[in-house]
Amino acid sequence: MRILIKDLQQHIGSEVTIMSWVHIARDQGKMAFFDFRDMSGKVQGVVFGKPEVLEIAKTLRPEFVVEVKGIVNKRPDKMIKEGVLNGDIELEITGIKVLNTAETPAIEVSENNSIDINEEVRLRDRYVDLRTDRMQANLRMRGKVAQLVRNALYEQGFTEIETPIFTKSTPEGARDFVVPSRTNPGKFFALPQSPQQYKQLLMSSGMERYFQFARCMRDEDGRGDRQPEFTQMDFEMSFATEEDIMRINEELLIKVVQTLYPEKKIQKIPFPRMSYKDAMEKYGSDRPDIREDKNDPNLLAFLWIVDFPFFEKTATSDDPQAQGEWTFTHNPFSLCKPEHIENLMNKENIGDILAAQYDITLNGFEIGGGSIRAHDPKILRTILQILGHTDEKIDANFGHMLRAFASGTPPHGGIAWGFDRLMMILQNEPNIREVIAFPKTRDGKDIMMDAPSEIGNAQLRELSIKVDIDKKEL
Ligand code: ASP
Repeated sequence: MRILIKDLQQHIGSEVTIMSWVHIARDQGKMAFFDFRDMSGKVQGVVFGKPEVLEIAKTLRPEFVVEVKGIVNKRPDKMIKEGVLNGDIELEITGIKVLNTAETPAIEVSENNSIDINEEVRLRDRYVDLRTDRMQANLRMRGKVAQLVRNALYEQGFTEIETPIFTKSTPEGARDFVVPSRTNPGKFFALPQSPQQYKQLLMSSGMERYFQFARCMRDEDGRGDRQPEFTQMDFEMSFATEEDIMRINEELLIKVVQTLYPEKKIQKIPFPRMSYKDAMEKYGSDRPDIREDKNDPNLLAFLWIVDFPFFEKTATSDDPQAQGEWTFTHNPFSLCKPEHIENLMNKENIGDILAAQYDITLNGFEIGGGSIRAHDPKILRTILQILGHTDEKIDANFGHMLRAFASGTPPHGGIAWGFDRLMMILQNEPNIREVIAFPKTRDGKDIMMDAPSEIGNAQLRELSIKVDIDKKEL
């Protein structure tokens, strides 16, 4: 039976079998030393005095996959490595079976310094990169945080619900990725920039408390903390005030940190709040880094930003001074602050209307944002009119929302966390690619799978698509 390396301590004196990778191999003539690695940890092994085992041992190279039989021995006192898993034991190897060999990898797993290796190599051989301690920890902690959030939300009556990936364009302010429909020639699905409309429709559906670890797709230029597809912890709740949503999410973030990152310190609880205006005046940023000590990697300064303007003027491209149409700053489905309802309905003082919007920031990054929504169809229609939509366009693009809101939809609001960003900060990583198993390059490619890639003429014909690009330009 296979014993996990972390459990070897319970088998001192017995012969056991482990299944592992060769982490380090050192051939010393009559003896061979190894570090073996499995998902649970590492252990040292040694071969001596067994010529038939030594012969196989000498063929082992890093990243070979092996079944190793051995006796778990306590190390002599002066050989004990303090504070290291299995630092006080070693495996006296009695048999080795090679389950698979490995070519010399471009990334040396035992060096654990892959962050310094060329990004292209890391992304091409991602499966090797992910074997390093750092990347293993990042992915395992990501899973643990998600599990804790799920459990905590279920305890409060929330249900995780999946929403469609093939959908219609939803205005989150970025470009859509689109998918052609074979059965509807000339028509396209849009991939969701967020599940915003679906989660609100779930409130119309009587679900009351929804969340989802949702994949969102936005066709934006890549940056350190952006990926074309990323994960949100998406959340929506009926009969909730701004305070309710902020409180539940704040408690959840505190629970994540205190349970899974006990070494970290939250600068201030309850999280401080700052108006958008103050943040801009004082820090020139709507996500100021308010850490008292910026050299401390374990200091977490959460900050709520509130009182955002609902609308702003778009700049026209040729003249930055000239102002264009009204656009929304965050989310067209938000409600304004109750005291601004009259202005909104009269379309007066539009630039002064504040949204019932809150962003949560951490150490200078926006890690989430949300709002109370307009659940009254008259209010939503007015907002869309201010945004320059004609009634005809409103009915064509948002008719489903207006109909749902006219069918008995409770007041509701929500939030979404940028889950990758949160994990990046918690794991002290410099960019979100380090906490995503298979991220894209900066220019949006998957170089391991070689995607995106061209498709054949037959497939194009089936989709009724002609590609109009001079290949020489590519
Ligand atoms: N859908 C919004 C976003 O993706 C978040 C929210 O308001 O719940 O930014």
